[in-house]
Amino acid sequence: MHIEIDQDRCCASGQCVLTADDIFDQRDEDGVVTLLDDAPGDADAQARAEEAAALCPAGAITVRA
Ligand code: SF4
Repeated sequence: MHIEIDQDRCCASGQCVLTADDIFDQRDEDGVVTLLDDAPGDADAQARAEEAAALCPAGAITVRA
């Protein structure tokens, strides 16, 4: 699995951090997403990354197999 984020699309909603705070974080200054782990190894983290991508209202998270 490989995760990509598009900070230009992110609207700082924070859904991804609520879903997977070991993978996503938000910048202190404006809440825009940052990536803590672009290739989580365990199945639980991968499932949460996929859930975060599905929940993101801005379509700013892409998960590739
Ligand atoms: S869920 Fe999407 S829009 Fe919200 S902070 Fe995360 S990447 Fe940005």
